[in-house]
Amino acid sequence: MKPTGPIPAWFAEEEGMLLIGGCGAASLVDEAGDTPLFVYDMGIIEAQVRRFREAIPKKIDLHYAIKANPYAPLLARMTGLVDGFDIASGGELAMALDAGMDPARISFAGPGKRNDELEAAIHAGITINLESEGEGARALTVAERLGKVPRLAVRVNPDFDLKGSGMRMGGGAKPFGVDADRAAALARTMIDGGADWRGWHIFAGSQALDPMAIIETQAATIDLAARLSDAVGAAPPLVNLGGGFGIPYFPGDERLDIRPIGVALDTAVKALPDILKDSAFAIELGRWLVGEAGVYLTQVVDVKTSQGETFVVVDGGLHHQLAASGNFGTVVRRNYPIAVANRFGREPSTQPVNVVGCLCTPIDRLGEKLALPPVAPGDFIAIFLAGAYGASASPAAFLGHPSPRELLLG
Ligand SMILES: *Cc1c(COP(=O)(O)O)cnc(C)c1O
Repeated sequence: MKPTGPIPAWFAEEEGMLLIGGCGAASLVDEAGDTPLFVYDMGIIEAQVRRFREAIPKKIDLHYAIKANPYAPLLARMTGLVDGFDIASGGELAMALDAGMDPARISFAGPGKRNDELEAAIHAGITINLESEGEGARALTVAERLGKVPRLAVRVNPDFDLKGSGMRMGGGAKPFGVDADRAAALARTMIDGGADWRGWHIFAGSQALDPMAIIETQAATIDLAARLSDAVGAAPPLVNLGGGFGIPYFPGDERLDIRPIGVALDTAVKALPDILKDSAFAIELGRWLVGEAGVYLTQVVDVKTSQGETFVVVDGGLHHQLAASGNFGTVVRRNYPIAVANRFGREPSTQPVNVVGCLCTPIDRLGEKLALPPVAPGDFIAIFLAGAYGASASPAAFLGHPSPRELLLG
């Protein structure tokens, strides 16, 4: 048997049926019409936002990185819960505006912004986090053509990275941001070019579960923002401190305790360097806000054996939930938390089973050597931690299966 990641503690059952947001999994499938289905529980997301507000000083805004889950009904709800959206494409810009987010609270990062995306961003009056000198020059040109003053910030490729983070996005040679030693010069060029200077975006990594690593990174980020601002000779209206708050996907992972992070930030904001005294600050989070709120439900189509191993074949797969198959930013495949939704909490059988998706490729494995209760066709398999980087981060068109359904509760 191989262990799975921890199923979030709040999931309960009624007569063996997994409850999501107080509703039985099978009745949610009925409501949505079919499997495969992503269910998102708004109550869990609201609880995360409350945790953030309770632990983190008021001075620090909470932004939602919408690439984690851009499901429109969810985005519409998020507009009322968070202080801003961070987007990473022209498509996400349209989604953010459709959701009703105030353009002044949207910022746009991402390498390779096309001129039409820059144009849409400048036209809408959102902040562009510049990823290169070339992009800065193009933004000024586009703005001049539109007769608009562009709101520009510089995304810095910091000279450090977030330790223990699942995905490194800062430190060393990177396609993201401008190297720290050139960031001040770019900011100065943009100010001199007539831009509305918005400040810094410094994102050092993702999926960290160690509060100390986040505390160290945030301290280094504030320090870097102060040094760069001094070099520019202008106070930044906003310092986006990045994010990196992780969630427990895998065996041995534990929930991140954000309280020590709040304590350290409280100290930091009380002792800010002069040049940052009037700056606003933001933390941008994706998976931490929405990841634990999602469950992917898929139905068992077949149960078969091969050379002594049992394979539970479901109607979903990596085309909806790529990350659970281990093919989205992980080196070694490990089991996501997974359960038989209609036999939730029941005794596992002694025979390990593999849960595989319906795609005709050997990489479509959703769970390996699992201890599950006996499974039969028609049963529902639940994969937890499916609220972030699921439906929108998976190759839905691969092999021509239907798109997943999505349902927002609460
Ligand atoms: C992806 C991304 C995020 C969100 O990352 P999570 O790990 O989901 O919190 C935040 N900021 C930037 C710049 C990103 O690219």
